[in-house]
Amino acid sequence: MNKPTTVEKPDKEKDIAKDKEKEKEKKKVKKPKKEKEKDKDKKPREVKRPSDDDERDLFNITGLKGKTVAIDPGHGGNDAGAIGPSGVTEKSVTLRVALELADMLEAEGAKVIMTRRTDKTVSSKGAAASAVEELQARCDIANKSGADIFISIHADSFTNSSAKGTTGYYYESGGQKSQRLADYVRRALCEQIRTPSRGTQPCNFYVVKHTDMPATLIELAFISNKEEEKLMSSREGVVKMAQGILDGIEDYFG
Ligand SMILES: [Zn+2]
Repeated sequence: MNKPTTVEKPDKEKDIAKDKEKEKEKKKVKKPKKEKEKDKDKKPREVKRPSDDDERDLFNITGLKGKTVAIDPGHGGNDAGAIGPSGVTEKSVTLRVALELADMLEAEGAKVIMTRRTDKTVSSKGAAASAVEELQARCDIANKSGADIFISIHADSFTNSSAKGTTGYYYESGGQKSQRLADYVRRALCEQIRTPSRGTQPCNFYVVKHTDMPATLIELAFISNKEEEKLMSSREGVVKMAQGILDGIEDYFG
């Protein structure tokens, strides 16, 4: 019984000795770090003040730090949304773009609220939910989160397969902020993916009508158009679409 205590002692002492060595090492390592930090402080102050200010201004232009963005990938679960000529579903495109956009926004310091992150309905009633219940569930998530803006992502579709382009929508009786948000997002998106603009238009869509914050519903492009379906199903296209929406959000907050 006594053995462990007699064995422990030297071990403890060893540990103490080890800790002391570690502390010494830490001190040794810390010193040059401090000197480096000092150098960093000195440089912009003494030599590079203008470029330091530029960097700060650039950071302010993005202005996404501390902002909360609610993203709503249209459709999901039993509701595939529109389906393209080669079988690409709207629900999969909207989710891929939304997830990519979420990553980009978070990298810029924004907080992101997603109505869904997987292929599912948002209402707890699942497939049994009515269309309105499903859409209200999306609005509830955004409204409860106190998000600064709401972006609902969709893909357009038309019987005439030559129809193409990007449309930004806002609630017709909503504030000017919604119109501005819709316009910035649509414009930046067109610039990124080179689709023809179908304008920024007033609408009566449920999710932009029943959300409390400035809101837009963006129709990325036409999934019923072969070329635009291809764009939407490619990795490059998805990244560009997310980048376009991000640019528009930055313009809005800038
Ligand atoms: Zn849709």
